[in-house]
Amino acid sequence: MTTHLITSLQQKLKQLDARGLRRRRRTTDSPCAPQVQVDGVTKLAFCSNDYLGLASHPLIIAALREGASRYGAGSGASHLISGHSRAHALLEERLAEFMAPDIEAVRTLTFCTGYMANLAILSALTDRDTDLFCEQLNHASLIDGARLSRASVQVYPHGAVDQLALMLAASRSPGKMVVTDSVFSMDGDLAPLAELLALCEQHDAWLLVDDAHGFGVLGRHGRGALEQAGIRSQRLIYMGTLGKAAGVGGAFVAAHESVIEWLLQRARPYIYSTATPPALAHALLTSIDLIGGAEGALRRTHLANLIGEFRSQLQLQHWHCLLSETPIQPVIIGSNDDTMAAATRLYEQGLWVGAIRPPTVPVGTGRLRITLSAAHSRAEVAQLVAALNALQA
Ligand SMILES: *Cc1c(COP(=O)(O)O)cnc(C)c1O
Repeated sequence: MTTHLITSLQQKLKQLDARGLRRRRRTTDSPCAPQVQVDGVTKLAFCSNDYLGLASHPLIIAALREGASRYGAGSGASHLISGHSRAHALLEERLAEFMAPDIEAVRTLTFCTGYMANLAILSALTDRDTDLFCEQLNHASLIDGARLSRASVQVYPHGAVDQLALMLAASRSPGKMVVTDSVFSMDGDLAPLAELLALCEQHDAWLLVDDAHGFGVLGRHGRGALEQAGIRSQRLIYMGTLGKAAGVGGAFVAAHESVIEWLLQRARPYIYSTATPPALAHALLTSIDLIGGAEGALRRTHLANLIGEFRSQLQLQHWHCLLSETPIQPVIIGSNDDTMAAATRLYEQGLWVGAIRPPTVPVGTGRLRITLSAAHSRAEVAQLVAALNALQA
């Protein structure tokens, strides 16, 4: 006899099927790279966030091995107990040195994931007396962090700086924080960070910037959205992820040293979770060196060329593209069924792209989320564009 609890879940899963919203995973047997073994077949992938192609970089893999021999497999405890290794300490210092041009009196703190870092910042730095001003298209982790905080939340429409200005002017709360993605993860466009910072200066508010898709990619040295926007401030709280362009895993917060010390004292997702394996932190030292060095610059130049070629060669008929200069190039198709059908046709031709449906994006804006990487060749991007052009004919 199946209990009512189980049958009601089974009914809900059937409803997902009926609406074309059931998600499934594909299993890979090779490193994250353009050519990937998926369920036993080789596909050309345009769906990872490995924007610089560092996830399979030989020097980072070697550093990971070396880190494991030096520090072992696991950290064994949370940072405040005994899990904070020399590798974590060196990574914090290296990241602070790297981000110093963008944030005054900078210090950094590493987290297991960007999701946890966002929960930590929002829950520890706000209280009932805070007004949070959240951009409409913010990532789920920022939305969940806002829920976890006891702050009062106001959402401003995508890119609407004028509306945000009115909301800030009307706020009577002693604490204010503006919260935004720098690169919107499903659209690929950029937040107007310089304008947002100017508003925050005017209204004495924090500016939390989630640069999950900018760190390593944007800016001449790869420091991300702050470098690209040319801004620097004490009121910036910067969250960068280390599992996307940095190719490994984890995340960090860079902010004024007092902000970091407060997170260390009070952020529950930091305090009550086991530190990442030190080998990851050790491997990330190599990753940051690559991002900030000559190789990173070359990879960013190649990536920018690929983005330009993709955009100039794509011929859109029934579908449309969003204005994005970043490696995230969404092609909007519309209905869930049409989006899935297009992704399936491409997959049959050996091309693996992400099909994104509600609730991740608004109803009726199902899309192929195409992501380009410095690991792609020009020929591979040309192959994708030819397939997309032919599919609409
Ligand atoms: C991926 C992502 C996160 C979460 O980072 P993880 O390290 O994957 O948990 C946070 N914000 C944005 C905008 C993201 O795209």
